[in-house]
Amino acid sequence: MSRTALRICPLCEATCGLTLTVEGARVTGARGDRDDVFSKGFVCPKGASFGAVDGDPDRLRSPLVRENGTLREATWQEAFDAVAAGLRPVLERDGPNAVGVVLGNPNVHTVAGALYPPLLLGALGTRSLFTASTVDQMPKHVSSGLLFGDAGAIPVPDLDRTDHLLLIGANPLESNGSLCTAPDFPGRLKALRARGGRLTVVDPRRTRTARLADRHLAIRPGTDALLLAAMATVLFEEGLADLKDLAPHVQGVAELRQALADFTPEAVAAACDLDAGVIRTLARELAAAPTAAVYARIGSCTVPHGTLASWLVDVLNILTGNLDRPGGALFPQAATDRTPRPAGPGRGFALGRWHSRVRHLPEAKGELPLSALAEEIDTATADGAPVRALIAVAANPVLSAPDGDRLDKALGSLDFMVSVDPYLNETSRHAHVVLPPPPPSQSPHHDFAFNALAVRNQVRYTRPAVPLEPGRMAESEILARLILAVSGMHGTDPAAVDAMVVDQTLGRAVREEHSPVYGRDPRELAAQLTGDNGPERRLDMMLRLGPYGDGFGARPGGLSLAELLAHPHGIDLGPLRPRLPQPLRTVSGRIELLPGPIAGDLPRLRAALAERPDGLVLVGRRHLRSNNSWMHNVPALTGGSNRCTLHIHPEDAARLGVRDGADVRVKGAGGEVVAPAEVTDGVRPGVVSLPHGWGHDRPGTRLGHASAAPGVNVNQLLDGSLLDPLSGNAVLNGVPVQVSASR
Ligand code: SF4
Repeated sequence: MSRTALRICPLCEATCGLTLTVEGARVTGARGDRDDVFSKGFVCPKGASFGAVDGDPDRLRSPLVRENGTLREATWQEAFDAVAAGLRPVLERDGPNAVGVVLGNPNVHTVAGALYPPLLLGALGTRSLFTASTVDQMPKHVSSGLLFGDAGAIPVPDLDRTDHLLLIGANPLESNGSLCTAPDFPGRLKALRARGGRLTVVDPRRTRTARLADRHLAIRPGTDALLLAAMATVLFEEGLADLKDLAPHVQGVAELRQALADFTPEAVAAACDLDAGVIRTLARELAAAPTAAVYARIGSCTVPHGTLASWLVDVLNILTGNLDRPGGALFPQAATDRTPRPAGPGRGFALGRWHSRVRHLPEAKGELPLSALAEEIDTATADGAPVRALIAVAANPVLSAPDGDRLDKALGSLDFMVSVDPYLNETSRHAHVVLPPPPPSQSPHHDFAFNALAVRNQVRYTRPAVPLEPGRMAESEILARLILAVSGMHGTDPAAVDAMVVDQTLGRAVREEHSPVYGRDPRELAAQLTGDNGPERRLDMMLRLGPYGDGFGARPGGLSLAELLAHPHGIDLGPLRPRLPQPLRTVSGRIELLPGPIAGDLPRLRAALAERPDGLVLVGRRHLRSNNSWMHNVPALTGGSNRCTLHIHPEDAARLGVRDGADVRVKGAGGEVVAPAEVTDGVRPGVVSLPHGWGHDRPGTRLGHASAAPGVNVNQLLDGSLLDPLSGNAVLNGVPVQVSASR
């Protein structure tokens, strides 16, 4: 007998509601939930393949423990005994920084991944934190931190109301959006055009998104910051800068004008390989549109000037008065955000509070660059102990970090490694203990991170669609037990971790004057919490203290877990609303338009005016049926056009003697790979493109389908030396490579 169950899709940032068909404990179908308040029935091929992803036979079903060099299946008790025995000695001998933590991108797609890693880091006290953010969006966090005083305050384009969208280095028709949560992003772009709005796409590739646009500019990779700086200069030169209602909240306009003065369209045109007149037109159109938003994503972040480009995106939104107004770019307000405190000066955002041991790279947002992970393990210095033990949670840095070969060797040299991962993959194969979380159908879902980036305020929660199979352990319990193991409390009831968080959070809330529970007894509040388990009680607490919450009775009719469970398709909280100055946490209490670290980096951008690549440069690409390295083991999501090929322009192919379909050798600073060529005018001349997340050909993995069609690891072309200096983000786009026919 089959039944249906609701489940929010965790397979990309769009967070669509799904209706699953379940037979026994197996998900046999998935379709869009037409009643979902946010996604309204939208589903993409990945979501429709939820059952195949969920039921992948290569998913690990029980923990693995290394014994005499070989991983064997073990009980949970044996696994956590081994974790405690492996980690504590390193901590006690070499100190907390000798234990590294790597958090992969799937952490933001699970309840446990949002709730427990901060506690794990707190328990360890390590500064050796590496995450997927530094091969992705760290520049945006840094620019938001510097502009707004809060690295998490990221404005999102008001897709449904804007009249004009300038979209840079993003391909939402394949990715469904990033740092902008919008189910059916493609449909929203089509609706923008249908209501007479204008869409401009800046991308070195003529992507599906570019083909939808009114105008596509095939810019030279890595030069977005120059283009954006020139647009800002045009706004100043031509008297088009108009901050409108933002003016009282912004400081540094005159200083900004002066700092950008020499980035004229004529000065940047050759570096960007764009026409100066077109750049002026872009700026004028942006200023003239009734409402407009500039939105940029990975292609603009993973470049040498990623933080400057991210900053300039918001600078343009500010100079045209489009920040924080309907139709522009606004700050979402998620239901689990902390109780909004009164507007006013904050502590600001600091960079470089500590540095990596080997290259002395500055931390950003508490993280060291993922590019530095291998050297932090394999290089001894007089400056403290190397990383000797590693905790990897949903992370596959052998594929996602630069120079996977070096990292592969480094991981093999560790004293101890534990992976929380459903697969034995290129990274977890090095672990001494692998702790597999259950498949998504057996886990609850709420989007803590993505609701704070959503184009509409809403809240949804789905309980597990299928009960935990016998022998499985919930991801929340796995992570709670890991926290206890590193804390020297191995064997303690894992519920103690959630109870501690509740105690601390409520204890703090009752002391905050702006809190709805100010002055109350935290024990009385804790007794009111509902939920079947610790994570649910924590969600209930966050909802009730949050901006829409019931304040534990202080605001009748407000949100709580019970209210959410009574609305299985979610609760719509309305369109994005202007919020300034409340989100600002800068020391001045205003938007600091020209922060010191940004001003200090502008000479490097000025030097880029004269830079031209000698030969070919590499960019990445996305495919609708793929997401990083996660899904290559699912037959329904591979094959067809989702292949690991090198896109090369016909002129370059002819010059190099490369034939369509023939193997080509691609060489970069970190190594070389051989991949089939796909000759296409979808990339501009001088640019080649390889997708990332491939390279499933290492021995010792358990990825049957992926290893049969492994593709190549594009990150092997990088040596990890190219970084955006402010954010530590790896440079993945615009990387110099040599291409030759493979004989
Ligand atoms: S767009 Fe993203 S969230 Fe929506 S169904 Fe596809 S993978 Fe899932």
